[in-house]
Amino acid sequence: MIVAMQDTATEQQIQQVVEHLIRMGFSVHRTTGERQTVLAAVGARVDFDTRNLEVLSGVEHVHRISAPYKLAGRSFRPEGTIIEFSNGVQIGGDQVVVMAGPCSVESREQLFTVAEQVSKAGARVLRGGAFKPRSSPYSFQGMGLEGLKLLREVGDHFNLLVISEVMEIAQIEVMLPYIDIFQVGARNMQNFNLLRDLGKVKKPVLLKRGIAATLEELLLSAEYIMAGGNYDVILCERGIRTFETYTRNTLDVSAIPIIKKLSHLPMTSDPSHGTGLRDKVPPMARASLAAGADALLIEVHHDPDNALSDGAQSLYPEQFSKLMDELRMIAPAVGRRISART
Ligand code: PEP
Ligand code: MN
Repeated sequence: MIVAMQDTATEQQIQQVVEHLIRMGFSVHRTTGERQTVLAAVGARVDFDTRNLEVLSGVEHVHRISAPYKLAGRSFRPEGTIIEFSNGVQIGGDQVVVMAGPCSVESREQLFTVAEQVSKAGARVLRGGAFKPRSSPYSFQGMGLEGLKLLREVGDHFNLLVISEVMEIAQIEVMLPYIDIFQVGARNMQNFNLLRDLGKVKKPVLLKRGIAATLEELLLSAEYIMAGGNYDVILCERGIRTFETYTRNTLDVSAIPIIKKLSHLPMTSDPSHGTGLRDKVPPMARASLAAGADALLIEVHHDPDNALSDGAQSLYPEQFSKLMDELRMIAPAVGRRISART
């Protein structure tokens, strides 16, 4: 950390800052230039608040050099994390994994129909919400346990892994036998108690970025899960809230290369929630692949006009299949692969 003192700082003020840093456990290296004194503080502490120094008299500016997250940071595993599943699917390797399915599990017929189509097109993971975080309490809230059972049955039938959203701690145990990946939704990115408990499970967690979260906050949330011993965290950009109203959210494609540089964790893009509009999903999926995404999360419905949630952003199966063909063409240009049609 660098602490730049004001050029008017007195020797007494400088000494007070040096003593403060030493009390915090840093070793301090002082450089006095022609205009100002700069203090370089070196130490292992990552949990301090730089504002505690900024408010000391005589301090001009404090600059943190080391990241406040350690386990999620790229230096923890410079080669990158690859998460491997029992059926051979790997997330974070050469293959870009496509997770697709309806926003919500609605019925057996719906799930079978959609799963068959996405599996044929080359998806390897079936998505579907059984517990739904809806903005209105009057909207469909999900099928719950019945939905989880359907996901497992249909996933096994088509040899697809299963991802579904966990909204609260009590659902973790309920979900464990049925799912392969826990999804933490945007609204729960900073539900720290939930994250802590997901740190104790032995299944991967896909952590979505909150609608107003910085990338540092996303990585600190991943750190909560990893600090509990679960290192299989997959990050996901799903759009943030901006002043733009044309799209439901603004998909921050630049988050992908930024996260890939800052962290070793696999990075996913969700262009469905990222745009909220069906016709914008394929271009943003293609852009996300080109930008380095390790996985894509895409909503598909066989009858989106009658979907119980997120119909407007759900692709028709034929659209999804066409998109997969396009992704298969783009992938080699960026050194990746997408699994074949089945
Ligand atoms: C979802 O995936 O259906 C969902 C609710 O996502 P998000 O948390 O990104 O809104
Ligand atoms: Mn949805």
